[in-house]
Amino acid sequence: MTTTTSPRSTASWQAADAAHFLHPFTDFQALAAKGSRVITRGDNIYIWDSEGHKLLDAISGLWCVNVGYGQRALIDAATRQMETLPFYNSFFQTTTMPAVELAELLSSVSPPGFKHVFFSGSGSEGNDTVLRMVRRYWDLLGQPQRKVIISRKNAYHGSTVAGASLGGMSYMHAQGDLPIPDIVHIEQPFAFQLGQGMSRADFGLLAASWLEDKINELGADRVAAFIGEPIQGAGGVIIPPETYWPEVQRICDKHGVLLVSDEVICGFGRTGSWFGCETMGFKPDLMTFAKGVTSGYIPLGGVMVGARIAKVLIEQGGEFEHGYTYSGHPVACAVGLANVKLIQQLGLVDHVRDDVGPYLAQKYAELADHPLVGEASSCGLMAALQLVKNKTTSMPFASELEVGMLCRSHCFGNGLVMRAVGDRMIIAPPLVITRAQVDELAGLIKRCLDLTLADVHTRGWLN
Ligand SMILES: *Cc1c(COP(=O)(O)O)cnc(C)c1O
Repeated sequence: MTTTTSPRSTASWQAADAAHFLHPFTDFQALAAKGSRVITRGDNIYIWDSEGHKLLDAISGLWCVNVGYGQRALIDAATRQMETLPFYNSFFQTTTMPAVELAELLSSVSPPGFKHVFFSGSGSEGNDTVLRMVRRYWDLLGQPQRKVIISRKNAYHGSTVAGASLGGMSYMHAQGDLPIPDIVHIEQPFAFQLGQGMSRADFGLLAASWLEDKINELGADRVAAFIGEPIQGAGGVIIPPETYWPEVQRICDKHGVLLVSDEVICGFGRTGSWFGCETMGFKPDLMTFAKGVTSGYIPLGGVMVGARIAKVLIEQGGEFEHGYTYSGHPVACAVGLANVKLIQQLGLVDHVRDDVGPYLAQKYAELADHPLVGEASSCGLMAALQLVKNKTTSMPFASELEVGMLCRSHCFGNGLVMRAVGDRMIIAPPLVITRAQVDELAGLIKRCLDLTLADVHTRGWLN
């Protein structure tokens, strides 16, 4: 065995990374040529890379670090549970205390009617569980032909076979013959793209009517469920008009269709309520969660099961032939428990709803005046800036110019992590962010927009 005394250089980490680690959603060869940024530590809303650069992490890791980095309560909870019982299964009529306690706590913070939880290891697995449960529900009710799940284009529901099928990302469907049968997609409620010239309220009703059109086309007796994110996250922080979700609810109720809210991003305070469906005004039958349940400190996901489905599964179902080795993992649940309690202790849901959420909205209203910005929108601590070539006509840049990526690289260069979805710049900062840090964030965004504007100007892309 050899021991090295000098620490590995960034280049050496990058070389080993490129040689062995296939990253998710990555062009392997292109990344190898460029080299990964090596992130070494985090504290509060900031992260540092191996070259010592400090970055304000405005995307919370990947929409998950709701309580920020370095929270002692979560670290201690994991340590204690690992020392006591690092793992035990819940398959064979056994349970563990952290799983029970977290299940209890989750039902207490969920909307009324959600008394049960099925645990998974991730959001994708949670949506696999949704698919299994929804179809099982209709089988048990003697309507096995009710199989079709309606979702939306540009939705993100994960990357397993069921998750990617439920999702509406065409570039994902293009690889691996997806979606699987009996999953269909309607258009998304994206007012900026599809509702120009209409009031937001009217567009919301129109977008919801596409669901009813699809139900009528298929026949309601074939439709099992509708699934959606209250606010589409990975699709570009697309905030539907206020009229949308209540109308979707009305349509689902009318046709007996189950309603599933994918709360993987919107859950745990992100929108200023415990769950996004509460902010958007609807009452789902199932809620998928992951990410914010542990603030990303450890993998955990699951499905909150509402009364309508729980009753049938429990009273008529017999054995449900589904589960994961890590369903109710004691360490993950202990961290989830500490995380949810910390959100309560710090009052983060109110902090988002009453303080930093409205304050961020104010800052975004100012950013809306920037010449590059065609639309600025936010809800709680999710926000988007649509970059456009022409502010008055909302004309977009040609997509091959990759103006969003240009802006993103200015962000990295100036100490800010902001994500680009096409030319839509999106953020979802940790919920612990303060007003002073929102000022810092808005200042960084402004500087990066100015630098991007100067670039597109120099390159003659504004003409
Ligand atoms: C991230 C995400 C998922 C998938 O969660 P994983 O933990 O990556 O499997 C599902 N739905 C939504 C809305 C997400 O944002």
